[in-house]
Amino acid sequence: MSTLAKDTASVSTLDVERIRRDFPVLQERIRGKELVYLDNAATTQKPLTVIYALQHYYATENANIHRGVHLLSQQATFAYERARGRVGQFLNAAEPSEVVFVRGATEGINLVAHSYGRSVVEAGDEIIVSQMEHHSNIVPWQVLCEEKGAVLRVAPINEDGELLLDEYEKLLSERTKIVAISHASNALGTINPVGQIADMAHAQGAVVLVDGAQGVPHMPVDVRAIDCDFYVFSGHKLFAPTGSGALYGKKHLLEQMPPWETGGGMIQRVSFEQGTTYADVPVRFEAGTPHIAGGIGLAAAIDYVNSVGRAAIAQYEDELLRYATEVIGEIDGVRIIGTAREKVGVVSFVMDSAHPHDIGTILDAEGIAVRAGHHCTQPLMQFYGVPATVRASLAFYNTHAEMDALAAGIRKVQEVFN
Ligand code: PMP
Repeated sequence: MSTLAKDTASVSTLDVERIRRDFPVLQERIRGKELVYLDNAATTQKPLTVIYALQHYYATENANIHRGVHLLSQQATFAYERARGRVGQFLNAAEPSEVVFVRGATEGINLVAHSYGRSVVEAGDEIIVSQMEHHSNIVPWQVLCEEKGAVLRVAPINEDGELLLDEYEKLLSERTKIVAISHASNALGTINPVGQIADMAHAQGAVVLVDGAQGVPHMPVDVRAIDCDFYVFSGHKLFAPTGSGALYGKKHLLEQMPPWETGGGMIQRVSFEQGTTYADVPVRFEAGTPHIAGGIGLAAAIDYVNSVGRAAIAQYEDELLRYATEVIGEIDGVRIIGTAREKVGVVSFVMDSAHPHDIGTILDAEGIAVRAGHHCTQPLMQFYGVPATVRASLAFYNTHAEMDALAAGIRKVQEVFN
């Protein structure tokens, strides 16, 4: 480890070595090398408490929820609804009923587009997204605009990957119905000023959806302070099981929204003669048997993150990001894509000498897991004029020594291709 690495590690408040022991996968060897897992923006590893929560649920409590009179069903329902409360507290929602369990950010955005979007957007209306959005926060809006004859506007960014707030403001008008913006970019790391973005949208009467897939794993989130109307995230990027996640929505908006998926569990009464009436929110949006264990695992992940400390996580990752940016940025022929002032732990880069996929393959041979590709942000790649980047994305269990290993791996790439 370099001197700088030792210095920066010493100011952090996290006991990272202890934390790493909570994540069994981090003890695995990959291709005979110690695993250096730097693909956290794609999915995070799971701590033992989450793994045990799933095991405990299936071993002792498994039953279908909400409809059972028997004790196991009541216990499972209690655990699931308790998990909803945990998510609500985690986001500082006003009440648990503002939390809808979904499969992840993608499903949450589709729910809002199909339910809220379809019921308010009309021909000639406008929806604003940004140039840096994930496809999951572009395509549902494109589809809605096509269906309704509405227009999708794109808020531009600068070369550093920061949203141009003045240009965004110019796009807003009384025609704007929805603004959909990422809390943090998965490809660049840029943290967007979502509170300011929401205020500006509200001044024009638009509602705001924040895609928090890369927000919640890295910083404290307070949906009431942001004053967003909707906030979505994926559990699997927050140390929780795949197929879990949440949509937060302001109660008065959720209440006015029609169901999207329909079927069992979301009804009040079904009659062939009189039709169907729907359950109250949030159950109205949870048709069918949900991922019960996923919700319970998500609550366990939230408890774990809270026990580490969200402010401490943000501070540690910020230090680690600075260090990674320095050791990678100083390598000849490396260009870092995404140099915003406010970033979460993402370092995207390209090299003069090698294609991102070749870089990814060589790093993999060193046991270093990074992602090479367009990161589901093709419009952003087009903006930077690159087909793909290599992305190292960090979590609080990563270390300064791992950043040194990454830098050494990149130098190896250079040797191979020069
Ligand atoms: N938005 C952002 C910013 C993301 O990073 C991702 C996942 N890469 C998504 C949305 C989609 O998340 P999921 O695939 O878990 O639904």
